[in-house]
Order: sequence, then C-alpha cells, then structure tokens
Amino acid sequence: MIDQLKKNMEDALRLINRYDNIFICSHIQPDGDSLGSILALAMAIKKLKEKANVNIIRVDDIPSDFLFLPGIDMIKEQDINEEVDLFIALDSSDTKRLGIGAEFLSKAKSVICIDHHITNENFGDINIVLSSSGSTCEIVYKFIKYMDVEIDKDMASCLYTGINTDTGRFMYSNTTYETHTIVAELIETGIDINSINMNIYQNIPIERVKLFLETLSNLELYADDKVGVVVVSQEMLYKTNASMEDSEGIVSYVRDINTIEVACLLKEMSENEIKVSLRSKRFVDVAKISTKFGGGGHVRAAGCTIYGNLETAKKMVLEEILKDFR
Ligand code: AMP
Ligand code: MN
Ligand code: MN
Repeated sequence: MIDQLKKNMEDALRLINRYDNIFICSHIQPDGDSLGSILALAMAIKKLKEKANVNIIRVDDIPSDFLFLPGIDMIKEQDINEEVDLFIALDSSDTKRLGIGAEFLSKAKSVICIDHHITNENFGDINIVLSSSGSTCEIVYKFIKYMDVEIDKDMASCLYTGINTDTGRFMYSNTTYETHTIVAELIETGIDINSINMNIYQNIPIERVKLFLETLSNLELYADDKVGVVVVSQEMLYKTNASMEDSEGIVSYVRDINTIEVACLLKEMSENEIKVSLRSKRFVDVAKISTKFGGGGHVRAAGCTIYGNLETAKKMVLEEILKDFR
C-alpha cells in the first residue's frame, strides 16, 4: 500500500477510535457503490467498537433494487440536534452531493472523506481518495482490512454489490486485477452471488421496461451517430407509471450502441432542474464536460445538474459534447 494512503487510513482509524457519535453518509440518488460502502463500513465500525453510536443518514430514497442489502434498515432519517462527533462521507466528490448530510457535516468535530472520483474536492479533514479505484467499496474493503476487522458475509454482500455495479459487472476499464482479487476474497466468505445478481439485475419492474421503451423510441443521434441523447420527462414518468430512479440504466444502454462514443441522458427532475448523466466509451472525457456545469464524476461516467428547462439544458450540454467531434 502506498505510504500516503496508509497514513490517511491510520489517521482515519485514530478518529474512529477517538469518537463515539459517528454519522455515515452516502450521496443523494444513491447507487450500489454508495449504499454498499456505507453499510459495510458501518458494520465494520460496530464490530470494532461495540459502544460506538454509529448512524447512517438517509439522504434520499433508496432504489428498490438495493432493498435486499443486509443492514439496509440501518439507513434512517437522523436528528440534526444529536451530537455529531465524526462524519464520514462515502462515494461523494463534493459536499453538494451529500444533500441533507451536509448539515451534519457542518456540525461535526472531524470529517473523513472516502471516495474514488477523479473530481473529488478533498473536503474531509482526512481524505482517503483513490481515483484509480473502480469503486468506493474497494477502498472500504482495504480500510476494513486495515482496521483488522474480519469481513463477514453481510459486509461482503454489500461490498460485492458496490464493486459489481460500479464496474459494470466487472466489465468497464476501471476493473483491475485487484478488483477481481478483492471480489475473490469476498466470495470466499460464502456469499450467494447468484442471489445478489438476481436481486440487482433480474428484478426489473414492468414500469421500468415501459419507460425504457418510451425513452429509447425518442433517441436522438448526432455526429454521425457517435452521440446519443435521450430524455426522461415528468410526462413520460406519468405515462408509464415509472419513477425517476427507473431511468437508471438507460444511459448505459445508449452507450452500448455500436456507433456511440458519448451517451447523454437528461432527467427532468422538475420544470427547471435537469439532471444530466454522461457516459463515454473510448476517448471523450465526460468528467471534464460535467465539471463545466458544476458537476463531476469519472472520465467514462459523470453527471451534473443544469437549472433551466429540458430544451435549454439539452442545447447547452450537446454544444459542449459536440466540441469533441469537430
Ligand atoms: P450518474 O450519471 O448519476 O450515474 O453519475 C455518474 C457519475 O458521475 C457517478 O460517479 C456520480 O457520482 C457522478 N456524478 C453525477 N452527478 C454528479 C454531480 N452533480 N456532481 C458530481 N458528480 C456527479
Ligand atoms: Mn456513486
Ligand atoms: Mn462509486
């Protein structure tokens, strides 16, 4: 392990040992990596320090796909009037991603930030940030090992889910030899990966399928079919009886079209708030594009929010994307 990383883990562990009132937080619109990492870390800290008061802040709705995760009920709305000693943010590149969690962060005596986004702003007192890591769960795995806590089946199921989802089922370019080594160790604990994968991928509600059909039938192509843009409007949600979280996955589907280099999904959260998801395949740096709109992410997967209507947001993002195709 590189020295700096080891030192940061040592400092983080010291804070965990020092403080009893610990608050753990994922990002808003949580995904498998953020949920898997908060749950596994909370379980590990509880195992390390029985007397610790470990709380996980519920910052948003949890997608139904992840309700099977062990310990999911630990994620609760928390009282801001409680004493907050230590705040631990996971899988979040900046404090805006924490939603209500940011209020707990401001009250905390110390902050630890554990993340793998290349755009991470190092907002913690201690930052365990490794952009070469395919998922935050891989970093949490290393940290739990460092804590010398034995990884049990529940922790392993959570970590496996996060690694699996953030690496696109171990397929994206962020998947490494080390990813597979870690996953092999997780499987060795005896977790049921078949059941986990069925829960994540073979459990699609019919409303989501209808939303996919509706969205993809309106696919727009640009730059010789290298750029694909899809939109999920509130009207489409109403028509298909789906919810916005059902749009997760559409952007990857568009990216997977043979001609596509950049896929863009525009989600109409409300009339003047458009959440943008970007994916690329080979050469376009979508983190750079997202950063121009105050967002962030990774080179091949990034996002931002644009305040304006759908048409305006589409025009602004598309203009930025097409610069890479001139
Ligand atoms: P998404 O398109 O929402 O699945 O996000 C893709 C990647 O970009 C994830 O790693 C997110 O954490 C990151 N990301 C999405 N939206 C934002 C944002 N507004 N600010 C910073 N990072 C973001
Ligand atoms: Mn995430
Ligand atoms: Mn992640």
